[in-house]
This record gives sequence, structure tokens and C-alpha cells, in this order.
Amino acid sequence: LVELKGVNKHFGDLHVLQDVDLTVRKGEVLVVIGPSGSGKSTLCRAINRLETIDDGEIVIDGKPLPAEGRALARLRADVGMVFQSFNLFAHKTVLDNVTLGPRKVRGVPKKDAEEEALALLDRVGVKNQAHKMPAQLSGGQQQRVAIARALAMHPKVMLFDEPTSALDPEMVNEVLDAMVALAKEGMTMIVVTHEMGFARKAADRVVFMADGQIVEQADPDTFFTAPKSDRAKDFLSKIL
Ligand code: ATP
Ligand code: MG
Repeated sequence: LVELKGVNKHFGDLHVLQDVDLTVRKGEVLVVIGPSGSGKSTLCRAINRLETIDDGEIVIDGKPLPAEGRALARLRADVGMVFQSFNLFAHKTVLDNVTLGPRKVRGVPKKDAEEEALALLDRVGVKNQAHKMPAQLSGGQQQRVAIARALAMHPKVMLFDEPTSALDPEMVNEVLDAMVALAKEGMTMIVVTHEMGFARKAADRVVFMADGQIVEQADPDTFFTAPKSDRAKDFLSKIL
């Protein structure tokens, strides 16, 4: 469903993505881990074309990533993204946050968009917050709204870039639980996270990145119990 071939990206002299090849099958849950600065966020941003690439190819559901214009807007709708910071529109209610995209980009009538938004908010356990403003919600609640907002666009793949790392510890699980549920429903997911519990529970494959390269990939059991590369062993010894 998502295919990267020979993707390279530089920031000046820094070679942040080095010949990255990666294929994610439909329904697969991929967890991406690696040291700070290894290029995980850049990889996510490239898949959503929030970042351009220097060369290589990114194909989503058989379609090459378009450079701009309406084709890009359509493609962005296929790729849902949840960031570390919640990125909700602060001056809009929770319900408006979730319905805005479908109404503006997909042309869904307001009533239908609201009906679906409430169902999505219910799914992530924050339906009773629908008429509040984002600032009135806890971080964990806001992040679940962000997930509902992304799902409202009917994405084919969901990207999560450290969705729980800005949260107080007691709110981490409520967000991870929503993500595990999504994974069980068959959503294709690429998740950058250091939450190894999530990786063990939900990941089909763990990808370990270092210095802009995919150093190693394996199913979570194999990766956590028998990492092959020294880089991965060193990294795991620091976080586990
Ligand atoms: P972290 O775990 O800290 O989030 P990461 O693996 O997500 O790290 P990236 O954010 O992808 O890493 O960054 C990879 C490298 O690219 C880092 O050295 C970073 O400083 C650099 N970088 C990222 N964005 C830019 C930018 N817009 N301009 C210049 N350098 C950048
Ligand atoms: Mg990052």
C-alpha cells in the first residue's frame, strides 16, 4: 500500500534519508524506532509530502506521490497524520475540528459529517467532549480527537509520529489503547514510537532506523529478543 524506493533527502550537508526502501502492506502495522535525529519524522513527513525528497519514489496505493495541486490534496486525504503536538485548531470546537476536513475537502454535508464525527469521537472515547474547545481537554483527550480528525478523512494509511511523547504518563495508555483498537480493525499504520509495549502488542514489523538508514527490520519478538546489529542492541539497552 505504501512503497518507498531509493528515497534520499538532504538538509544541506546532512543526508537525513539514505536510500530508504520500505514497503508497507495493506493492514500492516509498522513501528519505526531509532535514536533522535535518525530521520524518523522526516520519513513520516516525506510520506505525507510535508517534506520534499531529493530522489527516489514514494507510491501510495499504486499512485506516485504528486508534487502539488489537487492531486496532492487528494493524496493527503489518503494519509492521515497524528503528530506529537496535538495540532488541533484552538479556536474551533472538538466537533468542528473533526468535521472541517470532510466538509471542505470531501464535500460532505454538515449533518452527515457531524454524525460521523460523533461516531468517531465515540470510538476513541471522547464523544462527551464534542462541544468543548481543545484547551478544555486533557492532552490525552486532545490526542484522541486528533486521531478521530484524521480518521474522518477515511485515510488508507495512518502515520503517527511519537503521538504519546508529549503526554503525561497517566494519559499515554488511553491513546495507545485507541491505536491498538485501530490496528485490530485492520488499519494500515506507520507508527514512530518508543512505546515498546505498543510495539509488542500491535506491531507486525519493527523497523530500526539510524543515521537516515533502515538498519534492521523484523517482527517485534525477534527484534526485541534478538536484535542483529550493534546499533540496535545499543539502542535497546538504553531504552528498555
Ligand atoms: P527525534 O527522535 O528526535 O524526533 P527523528 O528521528 O524524528 O528524531 P528527524 O526529525 O527526522 O529525526 O531529523 C533528522 C535530522 O534532520 C536531524 O539531524 C534534524 O536536526 C534534521 N532536520 C530535520 N528537519 C530539518 C529541517 N527542516 N532543516 C534542517 N535540518 C532538519
Ligand atoms: Mg521525530
